[in-house]
Amino acid sequence: MLARLIYASRAPSLRAGDVADILKTSRRNNPACGITGALCYLDGAYMQYLEGDEVDIAKLYAVIERDSRHVAPVVLDRSFLALRTFPDWSMALLRWDERIKAVFHAVSPVQPLDLYRIPADGAASVFRALARTSNWVPL
Ligand code: FAD
Repeated sequence: MLARLIYASRAPSLRAGDVADILKTSRRNNPACGITGALCYLDGAYMQYLEGDEVDIAKLYAVIERDSRHVAPVVLDRSFLALRTFPDWSMALLRWDERIKAVFHAVSPVQPLDLYRIPADGAASVFRALARTSNWVPL
């Protein structure tokens, strides 16, 4: 069944090239298992939206959560879906600007903005709202 998983994690020791490497790997691997989605990175935290078959999503997340490039991943949302939000992107990356930060602040008033503290019930609606913006680098 089509499902999504959204998690947040911390990257306290991000190295130059980590995000680019992750996107490159995602672009190489995700199409083969029908996984699409989006990745946000801001100030030491990741938030990733994965969608695809529930079994494939669970397998990929089991790999991702052991990746030493981030720590303490927390699942924010795991649900079944009728339709994909990011059907064309193996893994898009969000470009930040003040307008996009305002979308996040609408669900998370925490200052400064911390992806790790986006409320679970707001995470999916943030991604849905953001999917309609042009601030993604589609990969
Ligand atoms: P490999 O060929 O084993 O590795 C690809 C590259 O990543 C290589 O340069 C390798 O040196 C480097 N690498 C792999 N694992 C580590 C590690 N633990 N620490 C440092 N460098 C490492 N993978 C996906 O396939 N799809 C995703 O959507 C996805 N999203 C991710 C999101 C985040 C926030 C993070 C941290 C990782 C994500 N990954 C994703 C990567 C995933 O954790 C695995 O590294 C990857 O799936 C392994 O695939 P591979 O065996 O084909 O890659």
